[in-house]
Amino acid sequence: MTKQQVIKTDVAIIGAGPVGLFAAFQCGMAGLKCHIIDPLDAPGGQCIALYPEKPIYDIPGYPKIMATDLIEKLTQQAAPFAPQYHMGHMASGLEKLTDGGWQLTTSKEAIFNVGAVIIAAGVGAFEPKCPPLDGLEKYERMGPGAGINYFVKNIDAYTNKNVVIAGGGDSAVDWALALVDVAKSVSLVHRRDRFRAHEASLTTLHEFADSGKINLVVPYQLTGLLGDKTALHAVQVEDFDNKTQDLDADVLLAFYGLSQKLGPIADWGLGIENRRIETDPTTAQTNQPGLFAIGDVAVYPHKQRLILTGFSEAAFAAEAARHHIHPKVPLKFQHSTTKGLPAND
Ligand SMILES: Cc1cc2nc3c(=O)[nH]c(=O)nc-3n(C[C@H](O)[C@H](O)[C@H](O)COP(=O)(O)OP(=O)(O)OC[C@H]3O[C@@H](n4cnc5c(N)ncnc54)[C@H](O)[C@@H]3O)c2cc1C
Repeated sequence: MTKQQVIKTDVAIIGAGPVGLFAAFQCGMAGLKCHIIDPLDAPGGQCIALYPEKPIYDIPGYPKIMATDLIEKLTQQAAPFAPQYHMGHMASGLEKLTDGGWQLTTSKEAIFNVGAVIIAAGVGAFEPKCPPLDGLEKYERMGPGAGINYFVKNIDAYTNKNVVIAGGGDSAVDWALALVDVAKSVSLVHRRDRFRAHEASLTTLHEFADSGKINLVVPYQLTGLLGDKTALHAVQVEDFDNKTQDLDADVLLAFYGLSQKLGPIADWGLGIENRRIETDPTTAQTNQPGLFAIGDVAVYPHKQRLILTGFSEAAFAAEAARHHIHPKVPLKFQHSTTKGLPAND
């Protein structure tokens, strides 16, 4: 996307977590078009990044629903209103426009001129935790299947590659298993000899290790990377007796978990209390007209950080955004049963 392209729309929603997704539905019901921005490569926020396979028991109407299924249903629910997703974009800059709207820019230089912004940024943008090694930057720029990767976006990028995976959780184990039939070699490095992963995955892991399909390198930790400007060649590891190994590697997949940072949003002049944005709970309005905050990122007295609380805040924010953008158009409240959805639904 070039810097000159400006996307004009009613609402920009920052964050594609459960609350941002439901805000897209509520904006649609309020007659507003919206674009959703999130640095992750798929919608879902904490539900997908932290607990995709956990059941949630307190979503109204669902006695039990897996986090991943909830996100699927929220995405489907918003779909009739055709929200536009900008995944891989972090909202970075915000400036007030003279017409009462806002100009939002992203880490990939997309520019949005919008009537209102709904911030549903949770506890901040997820960022992968990096291994504690020097000189990572050049390897981080080498792209999928080369240097260092923190996510697998396209498994084909690892075809016939020497892959070293570092980490001890589900992601490390699951990707080691998934890459066995794709990569030239798979080494799995962990500083303990036990992994925190599903029993069934661990059974398969040990079968693959016994048959030589996976090189299990435990308990070892990463100590260095060997390569040049264009490619990674090997990952150096060391055990607790200072025994070292160089593992052939075209790519290191590092799964050390995710950290969350409020990042640039903290510099937008909003009222911030303990890394959360102060709002009026009856409108989700922040201290700036046309800027709303909902979900985990919003704070007010007695706030409960629950998905269902965020859903209610999304309804308040959508209506308040509609009023901000079209102040002269009176609210004509209709239940969804009366109003229905756009064509074909
Ligand atoms: C293990 C676990 C179990 C839980 N169980 C339950 C439960 O049973 N019931 C329940 O109600 N709640 C539960 N929660 C809490 C629930 O997941 C959160 O309340 C919910 O995810 C909040 O939704 P959200 O959309 O506000 O934020 P998030 O889910 O955090 O999503 C925020 C999104 O905003 C994005 N973002 C952040 N900064 C930016 C930026 N600058 N630009 C663009 N995008 C940005 C992030 O990448 C993220 O995708 C649980 C949480 C955890 C960790």
